[in-house]
Amino acid sequence: MNTVILDKSYALQADAADPLRTFRQEFFFPTREEKPYLYFCGNSLGLQPKNTVKFVIQELEDWQKMGVEGHFHGKNPWFYYHHFLHPAYTSLLGAREKEIVMMNTLTVNLHLMMATFYRPTAQRYKILIEGQAFPSDQYALDSQALLRGFDPAQAIVEIFPRTGEYILRTEDIIAQIDDLGPSLALVMMGGVNYYTGQFFNLPEITRAAHRCGAIAGFDLAHAAGNIPLKLHEWQVDFAVWCTYKYLNSGPGGVGGCFIHQYHGDNTHLPRMAGWWGHDEKERFKMERHFNAQSGAQGWQISNAQILPMAAHWAAMEGFNRAGMPALRNKSVKLTAYLEDCIHKINKTLRRTEIEIITPADPESRGCQLSIRAIHHGRSLHKYLTEQLVIADWREPDVIRVAPVPLYNSFEDVYQLASLILDYFQQETQH
Ligand SMILES: *Cc1c(COP(=O)(O)O)cnc(C)c1O
Repeated sequence: MNTVILDKSYALQADAADPLRTFRQEFFFPTREEKPYLYFCGNSLGLQPKNTVKFVIQELEDWQKMGVEGHFHGKNPWFYYHHFLHPAYTSLLGAREKEIVMMNTLTVNLHLMMATFYRPTAQRYKILIEGQAFPSDQYALDSQALLRGFDPAQAIVEIFPRTGEYILRTEDIIAQIDDLGPSLALVMMGGVNYYTGQFFNLPEITRAAHRCGAIAGFDLAHAAGNIPLKLHEWQVDFAVWCTYKYLNSGPGGVGGCFIHQYHGDNTHLPRMAGWWGHDEKERFKMERHFNAQSGAQGWQISNAQILPMAAHWAAMEGFNRAGMPALRNKSVKLTAYLEDCIHKINKTLRRTEIEIITPADPESRGCQLSIRAIHHGRSLHKYLTEQLVIADWREPDVIRVAPVPLYNSFEDVYQLASLILDYFQQETQH
């Protein structure tokens, strides 16, 4: 019956017609007793591409054979290694190459950006963030306020959805920004909220922030590689992201920063400096005074983390071959199919067992759906895990499911939906 209710034939046809269908074979799927999992956790840790090993071994071998000479004479000289990573981001984020730098990790980069872009005064010191933001971002903002001598309870303003709603309305965000006016120093929000999966209206938020003289920065952990962005055109001031979620670069993978050219060209902007941010041509002269390189790379501190960067480069090679427009095109359909299956499950059961808290408008979400199984959250998640599904549980009652267009299929979604329907039908019989 499930095959009819959930339209399995649609899933099979969609897979057959999917121009990206072969990319799935380029990834390792985790297994239990040799059976592959249905993997829906690419929003948390993307799968390992099969070419990662090759890229990492290349650098290990150059290190074996050349030692320090690898900096300039390796196949991919380490001195310039980060440069190899930046071109991929021009289309992914809608940025100029000089606006991108890969370095460190996400929360570290957020602190570095705030060192430059959050310089509060007695009048202008507030930071606006969405309520229920990722904890690391909340801790970073609180600690930055404290470091500058402000009480986080005064300085950090969180905006929550209206009572009874899960999703922030853009008009409410804009009204809040206008309201804070001259006291607002910085808007720092997620691009996509990790919990609800809501994609915020970055251009409108940026415009509103600028209108009242504030900076607009975004944490793109859940947006980079999920939704096409136009950071340069939108005049976003800065952004940070990680590469181990949708960008498949491995646990603890290298992080990224975008700094708009408008700021990047200003080599006198104060920053946390280190030798890798020094003008590249003069870096090894080891001179006394810091002379920032122009562009985002002037915010580098330490020499590049070659091994995580090798894993990142490997992942971006596959990602670019697929291309963000094609990925997004598939992603919209894949998530719509999951959404449709959930509506059909509720309809079949003649009651709403599952509520979707992610926006229904594809323009306001990426691939992730956050679902609430109203009375059965924990036990449904447990059942799915027993049935070889990897999806993510968030307290108090949300299951986050991310069908990733690069390696998930429509049939994966069908299988998942079919297991959910099985679960409720078994429940009903007891
Ligand atoms: C995943 C994620 C993080 C994780 O931070 P790390 O510094 O990479 O450990 C931080 N913020 C958001 C919004 C995230 O989604």
